[in-house]
Amino acid sequence: QEKIAFRFKELLEEVLSFLYPRILEVNVEIIKEIEMDYTFQGYKDEIRQVLVNIIFNAIDVLAEKAMPTIRIHLAEENGFIQIQISNNGPKIPESLLDNIFEPFFTTKKSGTGIGLFVCKEIIEKHRGTLTCHSDDRWTNFTILLPLN
Ligand code: ADP
Ligand code: MG
Repeated sequence: QEKIAFRFKELLEEVLSFLYPRILEVNVEIIKEIEMDYTFQGYKDEIRQVLVNIIFNAIDVLAEKAMPTIRIHLAEENGFIQIQISNNGPKIPESLLDNIFEPFFTTKKSGTGIGLFVCKEIIEKHRGTLTCHSDDRWTNFTILLPLN
């Protein structure tokens, strides 16, 4: 597998179509805040996997919630592509924010706890960061990827 140049917005749209059946099932409203279609050089399949994992997790916590919403914000900041994926599901307790990235940590009946661990590995392999913070309204996963 080789690093290739790809368009980030295009990849995001591809991931959303792939997840569309699940999005419909949970009736999630997707809000896209996309400033530009940035070109990024990296392992496309792996970045795709990161987006699928994080958005899938977000849909999971929205099942049975009123007005289920996911907001996807894509922007450039100081030489980094910033992708923020937010949902209006339950807040993640401060004390768990580090644990969710540990391998095998899951709060789901049939979860594996592998998703976020792998996501973090992939992002760090691209010299980026993956962090999470919850406020009263949103749980936000923020990816920063250096453009060069
Ligand atoms: P899994 O999905 O198999 O549980 P993950 O590594 O993807 O494993 O996620 C680990 C845990 O992090 C989840 O079980 C859940 O407790 C928490 N989590 C992940 N994403 C979210 C989210 N968007 N909102 C609230 N909790 C989350
Ligand atoms: Mg998961």
